[in-house]
Amino acid sequence: MKESYLGVNVSPLSYEGIIEDLRQRILNGDQSTIIAVNPEKVIAAERDPQVKQLINSSTYQIADGIGILLAAKIKGGNITSRVTGVDMMAKLLEFATAEKLPVYFYGAQEEVVTKAISSIQETNPGILVAGYTNGFEKDEDALVERINASGAKLIFVALGSPKQELWIQRNMGRLQNVQVFQGVGGSFDVFSG
Ligand code: UDP
Repeated sequence: MKESYLGVNVSPLSYEGIIEDLRQRILNGDQSTIIAVNPEKVIAAERDPQVKQLINSSTYQIADGIGILLAAKIKGGNITSRVTGVDMMAKLLEFATAEKLPVYFYGAQEEVVTKAISSIQETNPGILVAGYTNGFEKDEDALVERINASGAKLIFVALGSPKQELWIQRNMGRLQNVQVFQGVGGSFDVFSG
């Protein structure tokens, strides 16, 4: 059951709960999207129904940020622990490595994304890196073609919000083989150290 804060849905699932749910959705051939929700996004959604729609149409809205936990406490909701975007990404990388699912990295400066991948390969030996593209690529059609040709099953999109979520919404229909999409903001910068 989803919870709602000012009309914005938040998933009460833990990291493990989301991974287990995703495992089933992947088997079913479904596409899934993960979006991080924080108070800034709730406020943006209050002001702009399109932002609200963008958040609520995601498969999982994770409670990234203490503000959502406080709101849950006040409301007596079920959200008791944070699920941060960067930790969710780390768990998904472990899952992708164990399941041999190829991963694509799109976003950030060239140096940041390449460094992030090296560090991810060190912590996740054997991970299948399908490819990467820095976040300043202009030719969206060519990028979609490259991702399709790469065989990626998961993609992390690091363009900042709401740019990354809009990119995912616009392109997921033509990325039918990609099953998991996560908008990760500045997470490549975190992994690059
Ligand atoms: N970025 C990008 N392309 C753009 C704009 C931003 O790749 O057109 C990258 C930027 O280099 C940085 C990330 O997106 O790595 C944005 O991180 P930020 O922390 O600002 O995102 P937030 O988590 O606040 O949404």
